[in-house]
Amino acid sequence: MTFVADADFLPLEKLYEIQSRHWSAQRKRLAGSAFYRQHHPAAPMKLPTRLSDLDELPLTDKTLLRLDQAAHPPFGSYLNHPHESIVRLHRTSGTSGQAMNLALSSTDTALQAHVAGRSQSAAGLGPGDTVVHCLNYQLWMGGLTDHLGLEATGALVVPFGSGATQLLVRTILDVGINAISCTPSYPARLEQVLAEHFPRLSPVDLGLRKGFMGGEPGLDDPAFRQRLQEVWGMQAMNANYGVSDILCNFAGQCTHQNDLHFLALDVILPELVDPENGNPLPWESGQEGELVLTNLYKDCQPLLRFRTGDLVRLTATDVCSCGRTAPRFRVIGRTDEMVVVRGVNAFPSSVAAAINQCAELNGEYRVRLPHPAPYDRLPLEAELEPGVVPSDALTRTLSHTLGEALRLTVDLTLLPGGALPRTEGKTRRLIKEYAQ
Ligand SMILES: [Zn+2]
Repeated sequence: MTFVADADFLPLEKLYEIQSRHWSAQRKRLAGSAFYRQHHPAAPMKLPTRLSDLDELPLTDKTLLRLDQAAHPPFGSYLNHPHESIVRLHRTSGTSGQAMNLALSSTDTALQAHVAGRSQSAAGLGPGDTVVHCLNYQLWMGGLTDHLGLEATGALVVPFGSGATQLLVRTILDVGINAISCTPSYPARLEQVLAEHFPRLSPVDLGLRKGFMGGEPGLDDPAFRQRLQEVWGMQAMNANYGVSDILCNFAGQCTHQNDLHFLALDVILPELVDPENGNPLPWESGQEGELVLTNLYKDCQPLLRFRTGDLVRLTATDVCSCGRTAPRFRVIGRTDEMVVVRGVNAFPSSVAAAINQCAELNGEYRVRLPHPAPYDRLPLEAELEPGVVPSDALTRTLSHTLGEALRLTVDLTLLPGGALPRTEGKTRRLIKEYAQ
């Protein structure tokens, strides 16, 4: 195994050396890839010797991978590894198209577990902790990989999966479990089960003091974290950011601050690009852009300049007070959810934050786009809190408040509570009313 144990703490110069070394080897392996030699629209690709020239290569996106897997089933022409050396297959849910098949060699599985362990360690898990893992294990990467990442920290891990919540409560109490790995919405479900079946127990009695979460928005809301602290006595940590096509979990917050540390600089090269035109953007603190990733060390399905579709803000590149050199970032939205208003990017996440600051609004909103860009104002519909009477004056005041927060002009329509259609309890945030 040639990946290093403590890459998240290494000086950046040392990491650049490791990256270059890995790229030399990866470049040779990729030279044999049918995808980059033959099937990628930009094939045959001439791979640069120096890593700093990588941004001369074209970008690869999910649509290309889907088409390639459909044409070269089951793993695509970008597999680039002997079929008999694949030891694990994961499948994505296929919610936004066909299910994707993800292949891993034994080296890949070891790397995944190791890097996922960096995330969970940064978030405060380690020897002496007993953690129950409550994600579904079926097919997708998250369940099993996060289990192995939890183990990699040295903690004692109890594989539980999803469902059977009464059994979970008894197990937590019998075994003396002090930590849980779950989705951010799961504690609310546990509270229901406690109220129904264990009326003498309050959440804090379960003794879960550490929560390792990810995979759903909401965790970045300070009110959500504060509530878990008050109701459960639990510190909720975002320990779980990854891109399954690249590596399942390679970023998490540390116990010193709330931004995500990019913990895989030794094996993944990150870049920022302009989501509109794909042009490279500087990798410096404060820069926003689409996260683009290259596998520098991976046997199966190695990707070059893969567009994640995630818009991020790089928040710091200096050494964190936790000692990690790993740069820090925040996910601020998805490229397919971005609306550009007079050159200002508006994302559902930032709109939600602005709406939540207005006491007259109940938090439900929708951006309805009647035509393709450009827009000179953001068309926004928002629901009022019960008892708040709509008026032109209120619309003007709230438009101004929201516009200030978002740094753009808002075209606001106020609606009574419950007016926006819900799907599975949620409002669809962005509606495009035109053919794309
Ligand atoms: Zn840190």
